[in-house]
Amino acid sequence: MNSMKDIDFGSLKDSYFQHNKGMSNEDRQATNEFTATSSTDQGQIFNETNSKSMVWGLVWNAYLNFTGVVGGGYNRVVEEFAKPILETVQLKSVVRSIDYSSSGTVKVTADDLSNNATRIYLANVVICTVPIGVLQNRDIKFHPNLPNRKWDAIDSIGNGGVNKCIMYWDKNTTDVSWWPYGQYELQFISDDDSHSGYWTYFTNDQYHKGNEEIHVLTAWSAGAEVEVLESEDDNKTMERVLFNLRNMFGSVVPEPTKLLVTRWNSDQFSRGVHTFSKVGVDEGKVHKELRKPVQNIYFAGEYIESGTSAVSAYRSGVNTASLVINSTYLNKRRPKWENNVFQFEKIQKVETMAQNVSNKNGT
Ligand SMILES: Cc1cc2nc3c(=O)[nH]c(=O)nc-3n(C[C@H](O)[C@H](O)[C@H](O)COP(=O)(O)OP(=O)(O)OC[C@H]3O[C@@H](n4cnc5c(N)ncnc54)[C@H](O)[C@@H]3O)c2cc1C
Repeated sequence: MNSMKDIDFGSLKDSYFQHNKGMSNEDRQATNEFTATSSTDQGQIFNETNSKSMVWGLVWNAYLNFTGVVGGGYNRVVEEFAKPILETVQLKSVVRSIDYSSSGTVKVTADDLSNNATRIYLANVVICTVPIGVLQNRDIKFHPNLPNRKWDAIDSIGNGGVNKCIMYWDKNTTDVSWWPYGQYELQFISDDDSHSGYWTYFTNDQYHKGNEEIHVLTAWSAGAEVEVLESEDDNKTMERVLFNLRNMFGSVVPEPTKLLVTRWNSDQFSRGVHTFSKVGVDEGKVHKELRKPVQNIYFAGEYIESGTSAVSAYRSGVNTASLVINSTYLNKRRPKWENNVFQFEKIQKVETMAQNVSNKNGT
């Protein structure tokens, strides 16, 4: 899966600076800033990123298939797709293990957080769509364990972080005289390399239709910086962001009325934001491996297709669904659906019941 010809973007950037030793610090920091911003699209950790994959973001000559939702609100897309199957969707249900040791029936054990219970689901086929970070963190146990070639493929996918610090100023109670009216994207060029990606890129939400009267700025951080910045609390984050804003607009910038900071890498159901191409990894081969089922366990999600967006996730879902439809698994007799809620202490009993169902089905 390795290609030795690749070079990581961090090394490439270092060698650029080496060859341009005479450049002013301002130019150097502007270069840092320019590259830091491009990682807000995929959260690339530069020392791990295949530099070839950065080209489109830096020259901006490629079509990025991110999606927007008319009227706003990404959940509208999910709601629309979920409509036909809404009654079967189990929310607040955290999968802990997937047991495919019996050749015909898969047993999925999940914690039902809405009433502190454990449920066991039996199925002919499972499509696992959790994010790559959840798989890389081994949050779900597979019985038997997945083969090494599958784990190698899973672990070779780059998993990047992107966070937003969203700030709102109430114009009736705070000073907004400093506001960058008419400007959408803003960047603070710091004095040194070490802080160049620390909440230095901003978007002005007034740019979006309907928001003209609202004073909301979003500060972004991405890539390697996320590890440091996510470990900081809201006060420290606000301190860093205000430091940058006051350097840009003067000491008049007050604390925001409200603040919301995302921490997607620490979120146990995300463990990252976007996937990216890792240096030395043949993405085509890895994707091919990831698309292959392990017996009756299939996989789908953004990380299986190139493109790093909701469109990639959708495309992967459609492809995997057609693999399942064309498999023989759906022709088999369906296991009895055990849809009762069981308290944690009754798991043993449930497992026995599940075993009985498997036995009855001759598996
Ligand atoms: C801040 C941000 C901005 C983005 N902006 C855009 C954008 O503008 N346009 C765009 O196209 N893409 C955007 N993306 C990327 C897009 O959200 C992802 O590419 C897409 O959601 C990936 O889909 P997925 O189905 O692979 O994974 P996800 O959407 O992450 O779905 C995985 C699901 O698995 C669930 N899960 C995790 N662990 C368990 C478990 N143990 N048991 C049960 N369920 C579990 C999670 O709760 C989640 O619902 C953005 C992402 C972020 C975080």
